[in-house]
Amino acid sequence: MDCLFCKIINKEIPADIIYEDDHVIAFNDINPQAPTHALIIPRKHISTLNDIKDEDTALVGHMIQTAGKIAKQLGFDETGYRTVFNCNEHGGQTVYHIHLHILGGKPLGWPPYQETLKTPIN
Ligand code: AMP
Ligand code: ZN
Repeated sequence: MDCLFCKIINKEIPADIIYEDDHVIAFNDINPQAPTHALIIPRKHISTLNDIKDEDTALVGHMIQTAGKIAKQLGFDETGYRTVFNCNEHGGQTVYHIHLHILGGKPLGWPPYQETLKTPIN
């Protein structure tokens, strides 16, 4: 399968891996949007959030729990951080293997695209 993140899992492409276990791996994003910006991905290939099956819910829960563990490992669990799943074109998904972004290390703006909105949402 021609999937960038499967290639990272299979060690065919290098990545700066910060955590791994039997079910997920996490590595630093190549284009960081915060002092720490990592991606948590399942070893199982799932293309988008829309493709999560009943049998995958524990795995996705494990991804979310792993975000908390990594935040603690990096020392910003108490100050806070953001987690994001982008889905499909309007969500800004560019890699079609689900991944949980974890961003931390500074106060993050909200809403995230406020500065670039040219017209009111409604
Ligand atoms: P998304 O836009 O939500 O699909 O996120 C994909 C993320 O993968 C982006 O933040 C990219 O910067 C990141 N990315 C793409 N290629 C690599 C790579 N080889 N290693 C690490 N991160 C990557
Ligand atoms: Zn994949």
